[in-house]
Amino acid sequence: MRVLLLGGTGEARALAALLHERGIDFISSLAGRVSNPAVPIGPVRIGGFGGVDGLARYLADEAVTAVVDATHPFAATITRHAVAAATGPLLLLRRPGWTAGAGDDWRWVADINEAAVVVAAAASGTVFLTTGKRDLDAFAGDSTRHYLVRVVDPPTGVVPPRMTLLLDRGPYVVERERALMIDHDVSLLVTKDSGGSMTVAKLTAARELGVPVIMVDRPPVPEGVTVVDTVGAAFDWVTQLPADG
Ligand code: NAP
Repeated sequence: MRVLLLGGTGEARALAALLHERGIDFISSLAGRVSNPAVPIGPVRIGGFGGVDGLARYLADEAVTAVVDATHPFAATITRHAVAAATGPLLLLRRPGWTAGAGDDWRWVADINEAAVVVAAAASGTVFLTTGKRDLDAFAGDSTRHYLVRVVDPPTGVVPPRMTLLLDRGPYVVERERALMIDHDVSLLVTKDSGGSMTVAKLTAARELGVPVIMVDRPPVPEGVTVVDTVGAAFDWVTQLPADG
């Protein structure tokens, strides 16, 4: 048995630690998209495979017998490629999404372009964008509003003309998120439904401050694929694979 663990998430790192401890033959894969990435325990490869064909070649060359896709819920391309390329067992590890509770003022949208349309129809004020550097172009045509943009690495594409840029990465805590939103006079938060605890503090702060949230829904999971939502369940799935592949 040899497992390819597609990563780039805290869950993938936690799973890598468990697989390493159990002595399972696996390799983690990172896209290499961010500078100074958090590196999982155990063997790691970094960089794209070169599409579906490249991934299929990699799986064959490296004699990979099973694939665990523990990538971010919005990393839809690599998930699609994994489904297309894998010829053996494939598991998707997807952390649960966030759900609104009492006091939350959330509006769900299908994608980032719909989010930009909703923002354009909203009252003026500072918009806090935490949707990632690749999604900034959707807001680049808006010269009326001020945007507070928080990303891990500096954006390389077009950006909103009136923008305050924050380079930071989670985990975040509620107190600082609240202070940030007050300091920048945030009137609207735009986020993706990433789920998990690392970046959830902004939602608590938004609730406390009465700041409405535009929540971008996740891309759908491909049909027919086995999905689990905890690291423990993914570990169980791997350990129950036949040892001879
Ligand atoms: P994506 O749009 O689904 O994938 C774009 C391309 O990046 C893929 O076609 C593949 O290139 C390469 N790639 C992605 N994940 C890879 C991996 N784990 N190992 C090797 N190659 C990978 O992905 P993305 O949204 O740019 O995210 C890139 C990585 O960052 C993911 O691994 C994800 O877990 C992590 N991440 C993403 C987000 C997010 O909001 N999207 C947030 C936090 C972390 P080839 O076609 O050349 O193989």
